[in-house]
Amino acid sequence: MSEMTGNEDNRRFATKLLHFAGAIDETSGASSTPIIQASTFHHHDIHNPPEFDYSRSGNPTREALEQYIALLEGGHRGFAFASGMAAISTAFMLLSAGDHVIVTEDVYGGTYRLLTTILSRMNIETTFVDMTDIEQVKAALKPNTKAVFMETPSNPTLKITDIAEVTAWAKGNGLLTMLDNTFMTPYHQRPIELGVDVVLHSATKFLGGHSDVLAGLAVAADEDTGRRLKQLQNGLGTVLAPQESWLLMRGMKTLQARMEHSERSARKLADWLSRHPEVERVYYPGLPDHPGRAIHERQSSGYGAVVSFDVGSGERAKRLLNKVKLPLVAVSLGAVESILSYPAMMSHAAMPKEVRLERGITDGLVRYSVGLEDIEDLMEDLEQALRG
Ligand SMILES: *Cc1c(COP(=O)(O)O)cnc(C)c1O
Repeated sequence: MSEMTGNEDNRRFATKLLHFAGAIDETSGASSTPIIQASTFHHHDIHNPPEFDYSRSGNPTREALEQYIALLEGGHRGFAFASGMAAISTAFMLLSAGDHVIVTEDVYGGTYRLLTTILSRMNIETTFVDMTDIEQVKAALKPNTKAVFMETPSNPTLKITDIAEVTAWAKGNGLLTMLDNTFMTPYHQRPIELGVDVVLHSATKFLGGHSDVLAGLAVAADEDTGRRLKQLQNGLGTVLAPQESWLLMRGMKTLQARMEHSERSARKLADWLSRHPEVERVYYPGLPDHPGRAIHERQSSGYGAVVSFDVGSGERAKRLLNKVKLPLVAVSLGAVESILSYPAMMSHAAMPKEVRLERGITDGLVRYSVGLEDIEDLMEDLEQALRG
């Protein structure tokens, strides 16, 4: 063993995916963390409380997962939640009534709904901006601004935010920075290395990777943010259950292998679609004409597995969705099987039509999350569906 592999922090990503604190059970030597299906823990000595005392406050299986995601993101402390929205809503509770937050305009539909229908009632105010334009971000600053929430690439039009630029400006103004890293995963993008305070995930997507677990993760960059998130996770009770924690770790071990395969296929698909006569427009950060490509390449090691494209009208989009035979036609993304979704009627149905169109989410836009099938089969299937 070389010194390089002896130090946990110096290990390469693929190795960290398999060798983390909970990878082997210390007491039995089992090849995975045990599922500790318990709500509470016995106090052997009343003067000396056990490390874990109640599963909402801490559970050994969940803790293994929390340490795992902190290692992968290079953060101080990780947290596991019942869903991506549980993670995101808990993180927004770092704010107080009267605070203002600046948010990526084409943010995930559920985050948009949280901000506009729930947090608005708590008197937390939001300004949505095109975060690809730093001048718009700066112009949104108010005396009560406390945080900036980024999502890059954004969903579903895959716009790119310059993470280091926005974060440096936010820090200069004493603002907390949060970033939804669902599309890239820590394999491709590690926002904490670029100065972000809180990284969030819908682990339901690429991290879990098998369309069989709903989960969310958060990673705090520093001790103080970690302490505050811990208080919120315990106080709100938005925790992930032990079975789900185990299942998520199970999926995460193959993250790099899955991301590499899917990304290679997505690049081929985007290139093919961009030359297809039935397709009006393709959104993929790896395409040469993508306006955010250079910034994305500076801050990420890959383009990801999601390709959005516009077939021109709602009628044509619906025909395509009815004719494809291989992908799941569903909400969600980031799984072993390809998933084709229709933002206008699925993930972004909650958004008013004018707002949706303004954000480029047209009636003809579909989003393809490329799985592990043979890409030639996926393209042949799309070809027959596009030709109608
Ligand atoms: C799916 C998704 C979420 C929400 O996660 P859930 O696990 O469904 O609660 C948040 N952000 C992004 C980018 C997503 O794709």
